[in-house]
Amino acid sequence: MPWRPALIALDADDTLWHNEPLFRMTQARFDALLAPWADAPTVAAELAAVERRNLSTYGYGAKGFTLSMIETALVLSGRQVGADVLAEILEAGRELMRHPMEPLPGVADALERLAALAPLLLITKGDLFHQESKLAASGLGRWFSGVEVVSEKDADTYRRAFGRHGVPAARALMAGNSVRSDVLPPLALGAWGVLIPYPLVWSHEAAEVPHGHPRFRECASLDALADWLQCLPPEPAAAASPSLSPSLSLSLSPAPSSSHPEA
Ligand SMILES: [Mg+2]
Repeated sequence: MPWRPALIALDADDTLWHNEPLFRMTQARFDALLAPWADAPTVAAELAAVERRNLSTYGYGAKGFTLSMIETALVLSGRQVGADVLAEILEAGRELMRHPMEPLPGVADALERLAALAPLLLITKGDLFHQESKLAASGLGRWFSGVEVVSEKDADTYRRAFGRHGVPAARALMAGNSVRSDVLPPLALGAWGVLIPYPLVWSHEAAEVPHGHPRFRECASLDALADWLQCLPPEPAAAASPSLSPSLSLSLSPAPSSSHPEA
C-alpha cells in the first residue's frame, strides 16, 4: 500500500547544526584544566559518569554539562581545585552556550524540499533557552510547523508529540542522528525512524542500528531523505495527510503547546 508521511519530525543537534564537536572542544579544554589531577581518559570517564548521574536532575544540555564539569573537578581533585580553575570551567561552559550556531551544509534547501512534502515538526531535547536561541539564530524556524523542546525522547514523548499534531504514529516519520533517541522510540511506536548519521556521537546516545527493520531507513543527509520521500508513490486521495496549524507552536513536554515567537 502506498505510504507517505503526514508529518516529518526532525532532530536538531547534529541533524540541523553542529553540536557534538563543540562539546568535545569544551571537554578538551576541561581535560587541560584538570591535567594536574588526572589524565584525559580518567577525566572523560569520570565526567561521563557524573553526567549520567545528573541527567535526571539537570536534564540534557550545556548548563547541566557545565555543572557536571564542576562536580567532576571537585571529585578528581579531592576538593582541592582552585577558584581560578572553577572560574575557567564556568567560562568554558558560557562559551559553549554562546558559540555561533553552524548549520550543516545544505540544510536550509533540504528543509524547503521536505516542507513541501509534509508539515515539519522539530523535536529536540536540551536546555530550553539554548535550543530556542540556536533555532532563532539559524533562521530555520520558518520551515517548521511546530517545535517541541522535550526533556527526554522516549516512545511516550513521541506519542504525545504526534498526538498533539493530530497524526497517528503510523503516518509519522522521525529523522535524526541518534539511534537511541531519534530512531528506536519512533519505531517502537509504529512510526518510521530514519537515521542521518553524524560523524561524532555522544556515548550516551550510542545504540545498535536496527538494520532490517521494515520501518527503518538510513539516509546520508536531509537532502537524501527528501530524495527518497519524493520518489515514494503517491497515496490515494482518501488517505490525504492531516495538516498542522499554519502557525508555529512550541511545546515543552509534557505541557501543552504555547506560542513560540522567536522562531
Ligand atoms: Mg541529535
